[in-house]
Amino acid sequence: MITQRDVIDTLRTLVAFDTTSSLSNVALIDWVANRLDGLGVKAFVQRGDEPGKANLFATIGPADVPGVMLSGHSDVVPVAGETWLSDPFTLTRRGDNLHGRGSADMKAFIACFTALAPEFAALPLKSPVHLALSYNEETDMHGMRLLAAHLDRAPVKPAACVIGEPTSMQIVVANKGAAIYRCHVTGHGVHSSLRDQGVSAVELAAEVIVFLNGLQRRLNEAERHDGFEFAHTSVHAGQIRGGTAHNITARECDFVFEVRALPGVRAADIVARVRDYCR
Ligand SMILES: [Zn+2]
Repeated sequence: MITQRDVIDTLRTLVAFDTTSSLSNVALIDWVANRLDGLGVKAFVQRGDEPGKANLFATIGPADVPGVMLSGHSDVVPVAGETWLSDPFTLTRRGDNLHGRGSADMKAFIACFTALAPEFAALPLKSPVHLALSYNEETDMHGMRLLAAHLDRAPVKPAACVIGEPTSMQIVVANKGAAIYRCHVTGHGVHSSLRDQGVSAVELAAEVIVFLNGLQRRLNEAERHDGFEFAHTSVHAGQIRGGTAHNITARECDFVFEVRALPGVRAADIVARVRDYCR
């Protein structure tokens, strides 16, 4: 029988691995892989294409039917510049709380499923439990991209996934995608008294941004998902820079926009509409 104490002991070990995203996470992955090995579970350790990075995927129970995947990211955000009352990599109890970098986000969930692995392994499971650990979630998500590509090629894919990312103790069943694009507009600079001979990159960028606003109005009439505070796919231009003087038609203008797509909507399809407009 696994106790809370076992989970806390596992969490203490996991927190002690400094898996800040800029560092290696391999020691943590190897430790979990060894624990699973001791249960007779062979984990697939997927080496990242950066040195010192790895994902882990393991199946407990029958491998020929889809199961539920429990997924966590192994990396944590840096402690540099932060004030801590105790060593961030030593799990420390204060009152009812356990303090340590990543103790909530999200090594506690990893500790739960790692500590429970012997119980899963002892059960006569009809469908399997899959365990997944990824890296670089806090930076570029590259680890999960690699693991997802691996799972995409697997003959049997997980049927469902529980991600133990903290969400204020609420169950969250969907996320919007987030894709960020930079649009670079090239103009032709002349003195503004000759503006008919020039092309203002600022003015063209403004036209594209007005198009984005119109696109948002059309998206508001398309799909909706009431689980989100803003129920639609959103497009938003958040930054712009261009031009050198009030009397020169701008040679260059850059702006950054993002697409937050509802589940089932592809940001690439939205951007294709922007490209078509630009053409
Ligand atoms: Zn997280």
